[in-house]
Amino acid sequence: MTLAWPQNIARKAIIDLHPYAARGGATQALHLDANESPWAPPPVTGTEEFNRYPEQQPSNLRARLADIYNTEPEKLMVGRGADEAIEILLRTFCEAGQDNILICPPTFGYYASCAHIQGAGVIEAPLNTDYSYNQKRIHTALSNHDATLKIVFLCSANNPTGGVIEPEIVINLCKSFPQTLIVIDEAYAEFSDQESFISMQKTCANLIVLRTLSKAYSLAGVRAGVAIADPRIIDLMLKVLPPYPIPRPVEKAILNALTPAAMPVHAQRISLWVSERERLQEALQKSPYVKTVYPSQANFLLLDTINTETLLQELKKYNVKIRDFREAMPHKLRISIGSPTENEIALAAFGVPTTPTKSIRIGEAHRATKETNISVRINLDNSNDTAINTGNGFYDHMLEALAKHGEFGLVLTCEGDTHIDAHHTIEDCALTLGIAIKNALGSKLGIGRFGFVIAMDETQANIAIDLSGRAAMVFKGKFPTDHAGDFPAEMCPHFFESLSQTLGAAIQINVEGKNTHHMIEACFKGLGRALKPAFKREGNTIPSTKGVL
Ligand SMILES: *Cc1c(COP(=O)(O)O)cnc(C)c1O
Repeated sequence: MTLAWPQNIARKAIIDLHPYAARGGATQALHLDANESPWAPPPVTGTEEFNRYPEQQPSNLRARLADIYNTEPEKLMVGRGADEAIEILLRTFCEAGQDNILICPPTFGYYASCAHIQGAGVIEAPLNTDYSYNQKRIHTALSNHDATLKIVFLCSANNPTGGVIEPEIVINLCKSFPQTLIVIDEAYAEFSDQESFISMQKTCANLIVLRTLSKAYSLAGVRAGVAIADPRIIDLMLKVLPPYPIPRPVEKAILNALTPAAMPVHAQRISLWVSERERLQEALQKSPYVKTVYPSQANFLLLDTINTETLLQELKKYNVKIRDFREAMPHKLRISIGSPTENEIALAAFGVPTTPTKSIRIGEAHRATKETNISVRINLDNSNDTAINTGNGFYDHMLEALAKHGEFGLVLTCEGDTHIDAHHTIEDCALTLGIAIKNALGSKLGIGRFGFVIAMDETQANIAIDLSGRAAMVFKGKFPTDHAGDFPAEMCPHFFESLSQTLGAAIQINVEGKNTHHMIEACFKGLGRALKPAFKREGNTIPSTKGVL
């Protein structure tokens, strides 16, 4: 019997394998089929369904990840890291002692490790001296080995060199060798300005894209990554994947970290990360230990170094660990991009004179309840990054005014139960915002404590704020109507009350006027104006006789 692709290139043992039969997930049925406990373990909060085996591919998680990666759930396999996807590919397609994979060194080491474990051969088509991909070498290797060369691993952006592969090379490969699996490892795609190959997968059945949550989404310890491929390939891989690779706490942790509300915050983090990479790229060029900084589309930089031993001693003094690649690549070290503060320390170890810049004051807060799901990121030192979406138009407008007049950056997303009313959304956003501001203020080194009077047409608002660490709130004002747009007027004092609680600030407002819209707007703008000097770092002392705030 002749098998159709990709069955014809899979290992015989896998074709003949009966998939391990397991029920994952819980239904309404009385489950007496898997020797599980009928009771949830104590304490019950957060451990619902821990007594039940999970699905092999938890459907909520698969759907969320398919959404994030712009593909369909049946085209996606989620495993314990992209690492597991690599391992499963080897085990599914490479017959021991017979088949081969192709790699383009220097590259990620795990492809070859998995091949060795599986007993598959490793063919090399090394990168050019400038670390670009050499199309001719790849084609020659494939032509020479033909049917036994099952998988080509291409890493883009490549670890550890940082460069990306040209799409034409990939298109040519997929077309010229339709029986061979062409894997693009996009572990660092979020940091790259190159378009993902996921869209190309739709037209190339033999193209497989790997992605990970470990790098851009800060979840390395949770272990999750995906393979995105033709559903026929995914089905074969699922026969090899263990029955319960994703523990329920892991599924929960991922869904919590990747809520739709959190995505704008991730985007902000990534863009700061990329700008730090650009900054380090330039600054490290000035290091007496660095000959070349290779251009990178990832969250690391490859360095060609001089006086490497001395540099390593310096790094040790500062307790900075970077990756040594000298065994495979003479004089080469790889440094990951850290937070702005961490990068300053690294630069000092590299002997780069840094102008003592003030740290960037960023604060985040996340809050999830049955009523709202909120993510806030505030940047007190960069007012350009503002994106607000609460689902309440008037409220968005007010928060924008607050950030604009306070001259701070505010990224705030809320998925709230606005179909009931605006109450929970307005209150919970205020609470979360207060925590984010508090986190951004840190030690409150050098900040001021001020107030403001604002006139808006017939309205006048007096706003005084003291970032004292103690919550207190006085609100004087009477609104002529009960709503402004979709915003209930009674929620205006409630917003400031909630904010003062989590921020730890005394807020005093006195507002007089004849138009509810003007009055509410004057309060938000006025608070922004009062906060602006309060957030300013004027000196280097804490503005309190107690020394702490
Ligand atoms: C980090 C890394 C991986 C592994 O990612 P996990 O999802 O943590 O297993 C895969 N490929 C490359 C190129 C990497 O650098």
